[in-house]
Amino acid sequence: MPFSQLGLSPYVLPALQQALQQAGYAAPTPIQQQAVPLIVRGRDLVALAPTGSGKTAAYVLPALQRFSMGQARKPRPLLQLVLVPTRELALQVSDVFNTLGRQMARRPHLVCAVGGVSINPQLMALRGGADIVVATPGRLLDLVAHNALSLGQVQLLVLDEADRLLELGFGDELRQILAELPVRRQTLLFSATFPPDIAALAAAGLRDPQRVEIRDQAQPEIAQRAIRVDAGRRGELLLSLLDDPGWTQVLVFVGSRRDSDRLAAQLRAADISAQALHGDQSQGRRVRMLQDFKDGQLRVLVATDVAARGIDIARLPVVVNYELPRSPADYLHRIGRTGRAGEKGLAVSFVDADALAHWRLIGKRNGMQVALEERDGFAPKDAPVQARVVAADNGGIKGRRPSKKDRLRAAANARPDPAPNP
Ligand code: ADP
Ligand code: MG
Repeated sequence: MPFSQLGLSPYVLPALQQALQQAGYAAPTPIQQQAVPLIVRGRDLVALAPTGSGKTAAYVLPALQRFSMGQARKPRPLLQLVLVPTRELALQVSDVFNTLGRQMARRPHLVCAVGGVSINPQLMALRGGADIVVATPGRLLDLVAHNALSLGQVQLLVLDEADRLLELGFGDELRQILAELPVRRQTLLFSATFPPDIAALAAAGLRDPQRVEIRDQAQPEIAQRAIRVDAGRRGELLLSLLDDPGWTQVLVFVGSRRDSDRLAAQLRAADISAQALHGDQSQGRRVRMLQDFKDGQLRVLVATDVAARGIDIARLPVVVNYELPRSPADYLHRIGRTGRAGEKGLAVSFVDADALAHWRLIGKRNGMQVALEERDGFAPKDAPVQARVVAADNGGIKGRRPSKKDRLRAAANARPDPAPNP
């Protein structure tokens, strides 16, 4: 099916087709085939499709069409709002808007509103209004508080990585934003994973939503491996795996900002070009590290979950879970940074004694069958957690394993940094 069959208006189609061709998009992906016709008809939508399947263009094309059908007004009323969970993703989505909109006779004024950088340029950019804003929730609320922006006329709301935005942590900010939006609007939710909890979806204010789901047959080829290793030897294991010349570039996920800095330093000490990426860094630095990695100037990027969602790195061959992610959904998002747009990829997870039970849970929830391997010279010696945990953080109940909450609490007590966010 060609792009011309998606129900896009003949007025805007030639300009979009030209841009699509320049971007190297020959034909729509399955999620684009299914979602675009529904969106241009004005339906609310819950769209579920694997990582790397082209969800961005599935909402950007109809959004550009909607813009093209409106008339120019001064000042520009904000009519379209795209919310994403991370700054990196906001920049990336803005790029897709600019790329696919570049042949349009009248182009939208798009403002990317993200935290971690000075608010002033964004205030300046919003003088005279904006047609489309791509934002992270916190900065959007700041701009609303500065009266730089009114959400009262928004016609189209997109939540990309919607399940993440609906999670606790964003829930409050999202509620405040939704309260500012008109009730009559089109709302689109996109993600590779959704909570089974329908109440959370209803909270997003969907009206009679259509549901579109692209199943795994379209899932890119991501080979998965899991290696048992003692926690203290994970750095060595990573170094030994990096001997493989096929591992030209590796995105390594760790659990904390500190681990991110420490492991990157350890790799550099072994003459491997590596940098850390995490939420404690300035936004300028984050953008630079990610760009250097995308440009191939860095072999290893050691990141927290700020890089887990949505980030598109072409031809990234390997993702390593140095530390397992918190949730089974996060696992899918992390490994989905490789194997994008139909390419092949490899995801390797390190499983230490403490993580065994959690690994099984991730496997079960995601319906995975990944055998645990041992690697020569790295046979695990640590005892599994059940044998070692005593009264420490479990409320003194003998034999009870510390829950995730217990562990988070313990971690919060142990480190001065109060923010659990990556
Ligand atoms: P998702 O949001 O589903 O994880 P993205 O929208 O980031 O995926 O797209 C993944 C990659 O596929 C990007 O590099 C994008 O440029 C590319 N892509 C998207 N749509 C097409 C298409 N129709 N043809 C070819 N490549 C595409
Ligand atoms: Mg995406």
